[in-house]
Amino acid sequence: MALWALDLDGVVWLGDRAIVGASAAIACLGAAGHGVLYCTNNSASTIDGYRRKLASFGIAALPEQILTSAVAVAGLVPAGASVLCAAGPGVVEALRERAERVDLAWESTEPRYDAVVIGFHREFGYESLQRIVRAVLDGARLFATNDDPIYPASDGPAPGCGAFLSAVEVATGTTAVVAGKPNAAMVDLVRARAAALSTRSAGGAYAGPDSIMVGDSPRTDGALASALGWPFGLVLTGNTGASDSAVVAAADYVATSLGDLVDQLLAAGSGRA
Ligand SMILES: [Mg+2]
Repeated sequence: MALWALDLDGVVWLGDRAIVGASAAIACLGAAGHGVLYCTNNSASTIDGYRRKLASFGIAALPEQILTSAVAVAGLVPAGASVLCAAGPGVVEALRERAERVDLAWESTEPRYDAVVIGFHREFGYESLQRIVRAVLDGARLFATNDDPIYPASDGPAPGCGAFLSAVEVATGTTAVVAGKPNAAMVDLVRARAAALSTRSAGGAYAGPDSIMVGDSPRTDGALASALGWPFGLVLTGNTGASDSAVVAAADYVATSLGDLVDQLLAAGSGRA
């Protein structure tokens, strides 16, 4: 019995394309009695949106198995705050559970807010940036889902939330509190969900670690694993390639894909389905 926390982009899928073998590997983990959490810095989608996307690849997930930087950042915003938000539907959904008022930066007409939250969005533009910068200069606290500079899309590298965030930080001279991997808000969220997740016994010996964080990005996934005190399983299906030898050498486990990693670790014990 073990707990596997899996990054999504570059591990389970690339954009709208499933990574070969990922859904079979996750089914194998479930059949062997291992618990699975999905932990992503991509805040764009709602929890139900992630469930539907996983389901479209044949992976059934409960809402409490899906941890996003949107949920993590919403937990940092003071309850009852007014929030100016430049982010996708996932962040808006999470903020509406907590904030008194949530306005989108590209629709806002208000001058003052308690907090500004930046997440990945495709509506990025000068008008939004101006409203955000003015709100922060007027005293709003600056939060961000993550500061990933780039992520792997199905058609190539794509600018991440960190690219938007830098514009705001440079203009305001303010440093954001960042929620996503590997920061404290996500560490706390993973710990809380891991504690709540009950896993059934595999009924056999398992030679792998009790918990493992699997990802394609040492800067976020590997650092999250360190913060949790868990081993890091690096897969080479996303941001990191086999030629990044220093990065590869620093991981506890390295595999060509999630399927390969699950094969490696489950084959070592008798918990293999
Ligand atoms: Mg990734």
